[in-house]
Amino acid sequence: MPTYVDPSKCDGCKGQEKTACMYICPNDLMILDPEAMRAYNQEVDACWECYSCVKICPQSAISARPYADFCPLGGVCIPMRGSESISWTVQFRNGSIKRFQFPIRTTPEGSIKPYDGLPETGNLDDPLLFTEKQVATPKKAVKEKHPLEEPDKQMEVAAPMANPLFRKEESPA
Ligand code: SF4
Ligand code: SF4
Repeated sequence: MPTYVDPSKCDGCKGQEKTACMYICPNDLMILDPEAMRAYNQEVDACWECYSCVKICPQSAISARPYADFCPLGGVCIPMRGSESISWTVQFRNGSIKRFQFPIRTTPEGSIKPYDGLPETGNLDDPLLFTEKQVATPKKAVKEKHPLEEPDKQMEVAAPMANPLFRKEESPA
């Protein structure tokens, strides 16, 4: 199920030109209805339920179906994002509730300089990645010989018998 915006909770991010859900959606699906001042998912079948908009919405107005591997059909999953952690409330269809909290960063918000200390990006034809000083080649592994050990030989003999494809048809008694 794609995302659903609860119109009673959405405040249109208080009329900003680009709302939080529009900013974060990797698929550009969220859009603001300028008259109703409510956001909605404009192409529901293209939503891959990544939860980015659900997590960023300051009003907790967006919901999506929880993934079946942790919450069977009929359950609800609500993330609450803080500056240092994210809490997940999972309500199962039998009414039981579980809560989890995970840290989301180890550095102060806005402090990361991702390219600090790294060389300038440049020549796209260069075989080196811009973080590499030389191309790593697995020379040692290529030249290395691996002699057969006694247990390997035993496996070689046992394998055809263990594999039904190699078994001979048994003739009826
Ligand atoms: Fe509405 Fe939330 Fe989207 Fe803001 S982020 S426009 S409050 S749904
Ligand atoms: Fe976009 Fe992900 Fe939200 Fe779907 S769940 S609308 S893909 S941000």
